[in-house]
Amino acid sequence: MMKIFNTQTRKKEEFVPIEEGKVRMYVCGPTVYNFIHIGNARPMIVFDTVRRYFEYKGYEVNYVSNFTDVDDKIIKKANEEGVTAAEIAARYTNACIEDMKGMNVMPATKHPKATEEIDEMIKLISILIDKGYAYEKNGTVFYRTRRFKDYGKLSGKNLDDLEAGSRIAVDDEKEDPMDFVLWKPKKEGEPFWESPWSEGRPGWHIECSAMSNKYLGKQIDIHAGGEDLIFPHHENEIAQSEAANGVEFSRYWMHNGFLNINNHKMSKSAGNFFTVKDIAEKYPLQVLRFFMLSAHYRSPLNFSDDLMEAAANSLDRICTAVFNLKHLEEAAADKDLTDDDKEYLHKLVEFIGKFEDAMDDDFNTADAISVIFEIVKLANQTLNSDSTKLLVTETRELIIKLCGVLGIICEKEEEILDEDIEKMIEERQQARKDRNFARADEIRDELLAKGIQLEDTREGVRWKRV
Ligand code: AMP
Ligand code: ZN
Repeated sequence: MMKIFNTQTRKKEEFVPIEEGKVRMYVCGPTVYNFIHIGNARPMIVFDTVRRYFEYKGYEVNYVSNFTDVDDKIIKKANEEGVTAAEIAARYTNACIEDMKGMNVMPATKHPKATEEIDEMIKLISILIDKGYAYEKNGTVFYRTRRFKDYGKLSGKNLDDLEAGSRIAVDDEKEDPMDFVLWKPKKEGEPFWESPWSEGRPGWHIECSAMSNKYLGKQIDIHAGGEDLIFPHHENEIAQSEAANGVEFSRYWMHNGFLNINNHKMSKSAGNFFTVKDIAEKYPLQVLRFFMLSAHYRSPLNFSDDLMEAAANSLDRICTAVFNLKHLEEAAADKDLTDDDKEYLHKLVEFIGKFEDAMDDDFNTADAISVIFEIVKLANQTLNSDSTKLLVTETRELIIKLCGVLGIICEKEEEILDEDIEKMIEERQQARKDRNFARADEIRDELLAKGIQLEDTREGVRWKRV
């Protein structure tokens, strides 16, 4: 039985999907005005791991994660650089996708972009106006927060308390200080879209409600993001979606804890701010992934050089074990299983159970990683070149498989490279077919620079390391 800590109830609850064997999940994605920082990387890695574990358990996961590609910060950056907001958004969306690849974060089933879903948002806002949950004033549309009786159910906040701490600004057009914007008119030089209310753009919260609705339906299993999104973003999403659709929006709400640097809040002005690209200069991004998963996703996570070094060493221990097992596998012989062998294999099965218990318990990746280390330890202690081959094979495959559930690649580079080489050879073949000989030669030279020599034979292309 899988248990998930649901932010809304503050309890671990058994996971029961809306539709058997399927998971519909939505993860709030980044605002693309800069390279993503390592804080942004945490939800990406954590919820990608959640997705992978569901898939390992046999669920079909429909995973949607947006890019917020229109926003004040994007517009500000565009003005600073003298380029369009679309250009900024495209640049950092592509950079983010590249970082995700490096961290082995699987592409979502769908990555909707806010600017491509404006019609959907307009539709949703219109429904909210028709139902009396929203109103328009001089081209701005506001959500009538008090009208939604369940407001505050996710964050546990109370509207009266919130209201006591806020004021209506003099020039405010809101009926109530707690009302929030669904649509705002353009200002000079800003990107805009036509709408029934004004030429303008949507508020941030309506984006996720609209995209989740479009790609996952009125009700979803899991909605996730960093804990800073609980209020107001997710609270407002609930207000919008539930008022419009009349059904519970998300069955489970998951939030990751924050990442701090040397026990301080990450901040550009304090000079303790790292992008994923900064980290990639020092470590393979696999190490960053491993580091993030070494803690429980709901705990705060402290980032420091020492801790990253430790993560690099730990990951290396697993990779080395897998590498050694591969060589041992070549040396080991097929034999009939002894009683000791059977007991060893039985232990491996027990480890799978322990791994699953850890992951079933609200995705306890820290404990799951400990189980992988226990397997490594057992293998190091037990296996040698006299071992029965089956044991070596099973151990190696199991470590790779369990690491894979966490999205961690533990095979040494040599093996991964082979795949890359094959891909480049394929690309070269295609270039030749297209009579693009310059590109074909370029690929041959690139490979040679990496120590790979190609040989064209009648059977096809062969390659060897030189
Ligand atoms: P943003 O682009 O600010 O909307 O953030 C994208 C995602 O990153 C959201 O889910 C945030 O909650 C999350 N996030 C931002 N900063 C951190 C941090 N320091 N630690 C963990 N998650 C973060
Ligand atoms: Zn969102």
